[in-house]
Amino acid sequence: MDEMRKLVDLLNDYAYKYYVLDEPVVADAEYDKLYDKLVAMEAETGVVLDDSPTRRVGGAPLSKFTSVQHLGRLYSLDKCQTKEAMTAWLDKLADGDKIPACSVEYKFDGLTINLTYRDGKLVRAATRGDGVNGEDVTAQVLTIKCVPLTIDYKGTVEVQGEGIMRLSALESYNSNPDVVPLKNARNAAAGAIRNLDPNETAKRKLEVICYNVNYIEGKRFERGDEMIEFLKQNRFKTSDYYLLTESKKEILAALDDIASRRDSLDFLIDGAVVKINRYSMREELGYTQKFPRWAVAFKFEAQEATTVVKDVIWQVSRTGKLNPLAVLEPVDLAGVTVSRATLSNYNEIKRKGIKIGCRVFVRRSNDVIPEITGVAEYLDGNKDIEPPEVCPACGSPVEWNGAFVKCTNKDNCETALISRFAHFVSRDAMDVEGLSEKTLELLYQEGKIRRFADLYALKAEDLCGIEGFKDKKISNILTAIAKSKDTELSRFLYALGIPNVGKKAAAQLADEFGTLEAAMAATEDRLVAMDDFGEITAKDVVAFWANPRNREDVELLLGQGVVIRAKEKKEGVFSGKKVVLTGSLKGYPRSKAKELIEERGGEVADSVSKTVNLVVAGEEAGSKLAKAQKLGIEIIDEETFEKLLSE
Ligand code: NAD
Repeated sequence: MDEMRKLVDLLNDYAYKYYVLDEPVVADAEYDKLYDKLVAMEAETGVVLDDSPTRRVGGAPLSKFTSVQHLGRLYSLDKCQTKEAMTAWLDKLADGDKIPACSVEYKFDGLTINLTYRDGKLVRAATRGDGVNGEDVTAQVLTIKCVPLTIDYKGTVEVQGEGIMRLSALESYNSNPDVVPLKNARNAAAGAIRNLDPNETAKRKLEVICYNVNYIEGKRFERGDEMIEFLKQNRFKTSDYYLLTESKKEILAALDDIASRRDSLDFLIDGAVVKINRYSMREELGYTQKFPRWAVAFKFEAQEATTVVKDVIWQVSRTGKLNPLAVLEPVDLAGVTVSRATLSNYNEIKRKGIKIGCRVFVRRSNDVIPEITGVAEYLDGNKDIEPPEVCPACGSPVEWNGAFVKCTNKDNCETALISRFAHFVSRDAMDVEGLSEKTLELLYQEGKIRRFADLYALKAEDLCGIEGFKDKKISNILTAIAKSKDTELSRFLYALGIPNVGKKAAAQLADEFGTLEAAMAATEDRLVAMDDFGEITAKDVVAFWANPRNREDVELLLGQGVVIRAKEKKEGVFSGKKVVLTGSLKGYPRSKAKELIEERGGEVADSVSKTVNLVVAGEEAGSKLAKAQKLGIEIIDEETFEKLLSE
């Protein structure tokens, strides 16, 4: 029993920090694991302590707000984590083979907001609290622009929605160097609503997406979809995603579909919710102490965990920048073990308050490099992270450039140089197959390569002394090197490793200038005038060509017979068109849609401006769509886009 007591105390402490202080110290997945352990323990022993979190919804209202009683009680959601569990849930409700009609919705990861209207006016907004009593946050919610202040319906009604902060809003909030970065959009939304100063709430640009009428006078709904229609008619913001179906197969497919959209949405979802549509059946099934029996949440894999920072190392990049990398206590995250995470730069370390030995939140979505979003808790013996005084690779002194530390010997620092070579030969650059970083390192150590052009002067005898290099391998590498001599301008510019010039910027330069000579003579004014070409990058490009060493590198490469071609113009339905993609497309990830447009002669831009000819708007399209409408640019939906592709 002692163990159960301890577990309940621990969970209650975590819940207090999460619900009441909006400062969680563990990630949701870690909390859920302990919670599930408690559920199992309670089932096994038949004992449920009075203060067990399995008995109650959420957390107690915070005393700094006035406590208010909801007209209708609010609940949490039962959850399942596997498709088998979802199938079992549906089967239990089925009549023979036939399952009842269900809706599938996004499970937004924010906090519940309960909106009360009387005589068509918003009279109160409250948090969920313990489900019976919540906190009065009317002043805060009034700052949220999408919440209607008046509605057509005149009876007393309580509408429930999720308060969320968009990821783009979070990013823009965090980009202010004077703020402590918010760790994630869920805490950010909860912290904003439960901030006593409504001006603070307003700054976070929240939204409330409504999904339920929890109490209504003068009306009875028969079905969930009818209730959603009522919300729309009364101008509440509702989710763009709503599937109504009687097919088990479709429900299970929708779970995959939603999971695959997760990373392209501009807000957090932590799962999908399946709800029985018919109200008579909802009433029959009723509620447990904590959940409705007519709905279940399908939880996705967690993207966040906490772990301890064991050390910070400074990695030399190809530009000589020393990038801090956190060495972590290995932690399982979205199916992989994470033991390293990026820390951006020294200012970010300070801003987030990260120290060696402290517990941090790590986030990983899709294939993005794991990122430390903030401190979960400081532990005994925390140590400040010191920036390096010398380059860890070559021992040369460092210099500061804004928030970044750089090696002063970047042209000759071995590690930086080898990274530059590795970049130069990489697939999207000169594309020399078979030249690994390890081989480059050996070639460097043998004194065979110092400048890019040295690669093209390599002969069989230069390679035969290297360990593991047999005739076949040597001839393959020499063939690959020779083949790479014939290249496109954008690849060549990218390969040179101009600071801040990635694939996209290199392609823009190639399109704009057409020839190497013209690109090398680019002025800052002309670069800045290009669409989507940043001022910093423009400065970097000019500075790069102002350095005689870089010009000399180009001369040497041309001297070795490197030939640079302009890109062949592709022709197709998008020829001569500049296209912007916005919102999420069901059929393809962004990168694929971009490729398809480019293959058909079009150019894809990031932002909407007067020079854009066409906007493809998927679901959840936001500000770009609005801007396109304002500028009168042609807008098409995914269906029309598909038709164009198949022309
Ligand atoms: P929940 O968040 O898992 O599910 C219920 C909530 O989902 C509802 O209250 C509603 O606000 C929301 N929701 C979103 N979309 C919805 C939709 N379409 N239809 C209906 N509801 C929708 O449950 P909970 O009881 O609010 O909280 C449990 C969660 O809080 C868990 O994820 C848990 O990990 C987390 N938690 C974390 C800590 C921590 O320390 N990290 C502590 C306590 C709880």
